[in-house]
Amino acid sequence: MPVVFIGHGSPANALEDNESTRAWRRIVNSMERPKAILVISAHWYTHGCAVTAMEKPETIHDFGPPLPAPLFDLYYPAPGSPQLAHRVSELLDPHPVQMDRSWGLDHGTWCVLIKAFPDADIPVVQLSLDLSQPLPRHYELGQRLRPLREEGILIMGSGNIVHNLALMDWLNPAAPAFDWAVRFNDRIKEHVLEDNPQGVCEYRRYGQDAALSVPSAEHLCPLLYTMGARADADEVTLETDFIVHKSLSMTSVVFQTGN
Ligand code: ZN
Repeated sequence: MPVVFIGHGSPANALEDNESTRAWRRIVNSMERPKAILVISAHWYTHGCAVTAMEKPETIHDFGPPLPAPLFDLYYPAPGSPQLAHRVSELLDPHPVQMDRSWGLDHGTWCVLIKAFPDADIPVVQLSLDLSQPLPRHYELGQRLRPLREEGILIMGSGNIVHNLALMDWLNPAAPAFDWAVRFNDRIKEHVLEDNPQGVCEYRRYGQDAALSVPSAEHLCPLLYTMGARADADEVTLETDFIVHKSLSMTSVVFQTGN
């Protein structure tokens, strides 16, 4: 299976048909149907690692106004997979992984999957971000997940390379991007294409560009899991490589070994 990093952007994408949502569908249409999906979402951070281990994860509407009311009526009723949750725990051992039964599918997961796999018939498990860990640790955890690819599991990181909600233009997705956002996004993309996770982990050396693009690391972290799960033979493709609302980069990455 390939590995994908999705720049998820606004939850409102779940209601829209736009360039990003069409690309998400196209990306998954180009691959075999996964047996299950493991998502590392920017929106679930915990002390210690956890995986959703329930049979029926709930759809979490973890957002508020000014997002449109119809978003709260959307649900993504995909089954969970306790079996995959245990497999993830086994692969990450000795890093402790809690079997969680209280979370569900947050919008970093379902707002993408509702467009990519609208039938919601493939089991989905989320792995939380333990933000007490240093960034290289997230890359290492991603490396340990790599065997899942041989087992028919799609690994999906869901975040945004550039994610500044305070400065974004909420009303105009097409507003020209800030220069610092473009520069920072380009630098991180170079590190992805060069397979240089250290370059991503040391993003703070980009000074003010980094401080503005990554006010907190949770939206960048999922990228490190996908870089970790990369195989030597993978080709790397950038998708939806643009910035919306001035400060949200929609850049997505597909790591895929050619046929
Ligand atoms: Zn987000």
